[in-house]
Amino acid sequence: MNRKDVEKLREIWGENSCDHPSLEKDYYLGSATGDYVCKQCGRSGYGSDWPQKETKDK
Ligand SMILES: [Zn+2]
Repeated sequence: MNRKDVEKLREIWGENSCDHPSLEKDYYLGSATGDYVCKQCGRSGYGSDWPQKETKDK
């Protein structure tokens, strides 16, 4: 997923809550950044398991 798509998703999804059901590798200038982007809300985090980590912190 490229940055433009991510920004669009964030715009559409806004501040709604999301449990990040589907992640995709984040690409910047054609190479993977190590981050994973939620295909639903456009949020990103490091590693494919960041939604789980985030849930634990709460
Ligand atoms: Zn999400």
